[in-house]
Amino acid sequence: MASMLKLLPVCLLLMATAAAPAAELEGGAFRVHYREGDEDVAQWSLDVLQEAAAEFAPRLPLGDAPVDVHIAHTMDEFRELTPGRNVYVSGVARSWRGMIIVKGPQLRLPGEDYAGTLRHELVHVLLYRNAGIGRLPQWLNEGLAMMLANELRWQASLTVGRMFLTRRIIEYKDLGRAFNAPSGPEEFSDVYAQSLSMTEFLRDRVGEDALWRIVLATREMSFGDALRTYAGMSPLDFWDAYSRSLWGLALIGSLVSGSLFTPAAVLFLIVYWKRRGQFKRGMARLEAQEARERAEAAEAPAVLSWDDVAEDPDAWKGEEGEEEEEER
Ligand SMILES: [Zn+2]
Repeated sequence: MASMLKLLPVCLLLMATAAAPAAELEGGAFRVHYREGDEDVAQWSLDVLQEAAAEFAPRLPLGDAPVDVHIAHTMDEFRELTPGRNVYVSGVARSWRGMIIVKGPQLRLPGEDYAGTLRHELVHVLLYRNAGIGRLPQWLNEGLAMMLANELRWQASLTVGRMFLTRRIIEYKDLGRAFNAPSGPEEFSDVYAQSLSMTEFLRDRVGEDALWRIVLATREMSFGDALRTYAGMSPLDFWDAYSRSLWGLALIGSLVSGSLFTPAAVLFLIVYWKRRGQFKRGMARLEAQEARERAEAAEAPAVLSWDDVAEDPDAWKGEEGEEEEEER
């Protein structure tokens, strides 16, 4: 009897995990894998993906290779399909395998953008198939995915405005680290908001056509070279211009959200105003120092420079080629 009782939890566990059988729905290059009973969600997902693929095709053709889309019905299933990943994300793309894994709508909070997640992960797969993925900076990969998925665009501006006022802007050289080893949930969401804001800034600055020429040119050249060739600026120039634009973004964000008159914002404005001169002198000093270092570097043997890091957030790792995974 005792041994039977011991078996009981095992049997219950087996019953609980014996979920409804898996089913598959095919359409074009897409193969949607779902639990029986989720037919409506599977059909909706396929419609969203096919429509998105047609919309993105002029710049990012999907090609013939299949894309396997897994809709997790339970959190256990999601964990099983995305081992070792952050369970708080809504979707994961294994671009090199043509695989997308999303939490089913029933696993999300009301109002969460399920279709947006599908579009976002599809963009990662398309970028993998059309751009030089090892050379495309992660901020641009994520920024494009969010921009094309029409996700959180307005909120991102407000978030970045607030980040600027509270001095949380992530330096260009630290973006890769913030994605892969964020200091906490706040930095994890900050780095996505900032990536979207940087991508939109780049698009507004150089225009839609040049943006795509840069993205697609990473098949043949580094991101820095693509930026120099099609936009006439280096990653450092881009970062300087973006950093300077944040002031306006913070101001607009503050006006819109009504937070301009919060004590922190007012204090920041006063300090900034008072230290403008000091700030400019500091920048001039830094620029002079940088020019000196560049002159020295030109004579010294090749070492890892700031510019190298700026072009490739993973350059500090020294080794390329590790399988990457995108998520949000
Ligand atoms: Zn992503």
